[in-house]
Amino acid sequence: IPNEFQEALPILRKIEQAGFEAYFVGGSVRDTLLGRPIHDVDIATSAYPSEVKSLFRRTVDTGIEHGTVMILDHGTGYEVTTFRTESGYQDYRRPDHVKFVRSLKEDLKRRDFTINALAMSENGQITDLFGGLADMAAHVIKAVGDPNERFNEDALRMMRAVRFASQLDFKIEANTLAGISRHSQLLEKIAVERIHAEFVKMMMGKDAKRGLDLTLITNLYRHMPGFASKKAQLQAIATTGFSVQNEVQVWALLAFYFNDHSEQIKRFLKAWKSANQVIEDVILTTELLFKMTADDVSNWDLYRAGQRNVQNAVTILNAGGTTSFSDYLNDYDQLPITNKKQLQITGGELIKAGILSPSPLLGQTLNYLEKAVVQAEVTNEKQALIAAVSHFVNGDD
Ligand code: ATP
Ligand code: MG
Repeated sequence: IPNEFQEALPILRKIEQAGFEAYFVGGSVRDTLLGRPIHDVDIATSAYPSEVKSLFRRTVDTGIEHGTVMILDHGTGYEVTTFRTESGYQDYRRPDHVKFVRSLKEDLKRRDFTINALAMSENGQITDLFGGLADMAAHVIKAVGDPNERFNEDALRMMRAVRFASQLDFKIEANTLAGISRHSQLLEKIAVERIHAEFVKMMMGKDAKRGLDLTLITNLYRHMPGFASKKAQLQAIATTGFSVQNEVQVWALLAFYFNDHSEQIKRFLKAWKSANQVIEDVILTTELLFKMTADDVSNWDLYRAGQRNVQNAVTILNAGGTTSFSDYLNDYDQLPITNKKQLQITGGELIKAGILSPSPLLGQTLNYLEKAVVQAEVTNEKQALIAAVSHFVNGDD
C-alpha cells in the first residue's frame, strides 16, 4: 500500500467505525496496482454527504451536488464521494440526475472502464466486479457494460479511452474500439476544454504514437477543432515517433506539421480555447522549428523566443534519440544579453547626457541597441553603446 493510501487510512476507518463502507477507487487504485505514481486519492463511501460531513471537523463542499465532500486532514484534502448512480444523459455528456445509493456495486457500474472500476478496501482487498484485474493484466481498456450505451451517455469517455491507451501503453478492446468508431461524431457535443485536456494528456503519454493512431483510425480527429482536413499531417506526425513533454510542445509540433504561422496558429489555438500565454509560446516555438530545420537561426531569433521556447523546440526536434539540435541551448546560453534590462545604458542616461531627448526616437534607439548587442554587433559597454547611438542617430561614426 503506497504512502498516499497509508495517510488516508484514518479517514476510511473513521467512516467505517460509524457503520458505513469506504473504499479507495478510481485512478489511484489502478495506478497503484500498475506500480505507477498516484496523484489524487479518491474515496467512495456508502455514507451520504451530510453523514460524511457530520463525521469530520473540517470539510469543504467541493462538489456536494454530485456527492463529493473534501475532508481536510493535516494539510491534505481528500475527496470523499457518496456511492451514486447517474441517469438521463440527455446531451451526451454529464448526467442530468445523480442518485445517492448505498451499494458499491451500483457505483462501480457507472464508471467508464473496467480498470477504473476497481475498489480497494482498508486492508488492501480489491473488489473487481467487471474483470478489471484481468484486463489490467492483459493491458486492455474495456468499457464497463455496453460500449455503445456508455459512449452515448458520455462522449468524453471516447477521449479518455484513447488517453489511457497512450498513458498506460494499453490496447483498446475490440468492442470498445468499435463503439468509439461508431460514435466518434458525438465528440462534437463535448465542451472543447474537456477534449483539450484529454488530447494534451494523450499526446504526452508513454505511447503517444498509439494514441494519435487511435485518434485517426476511430475518426475522432474529424470532430476536433481544426483537424478535419489534416489527416495526412497527423499521420505524418504519428509516423515520426514524436515525444513531447508539455502543452506548448504538443501544439507547436502540430503547427509545424500543419505549416501554420502566427495568425493561423492563433486562430487554431483559439478554437481549442488555449490560454493566451500558451498561444504566444507556441508561436515562438513553431517559428524556431521552421528556422532550426532550415538551419537559419540567428541570435536574435533565440533571444526573442526565450530560453523555455528554445528548449521546447530542441525537445521536439531531438525526439527519436538524436541530440543534434542541443547546440542551440548552448548558443542561447552564450547570448550577450537575455533581457533588455541587461543593456549597460538606459534611456534616462541617454537623456541626462544630452544625447537624446524624450521622444519616439529614444525608444527606437534602445530597440536598435538591444538587437545590435544580441547580434554581437555592438559590445554591451557604456562607451561602445554611446558610440553606437551616435552612429544610429546621425548616421555617422
Ligand atoms: P487520472 O489519473 O487522470 O486522474 P482517473 O481515472 O483518476 O485518471 P478521474 O477523472 O480522476 O480519472 O476520475 C476518477 C474516476 O472516476 C475514474 O477512474 C472513473 O472510475 C470515474 N470517471 C471519471 N470520469 C468518468 C466518466 N466520464 N465516465 C465514467 N466514469 C468516470
Ligand atoms: Mg484521478
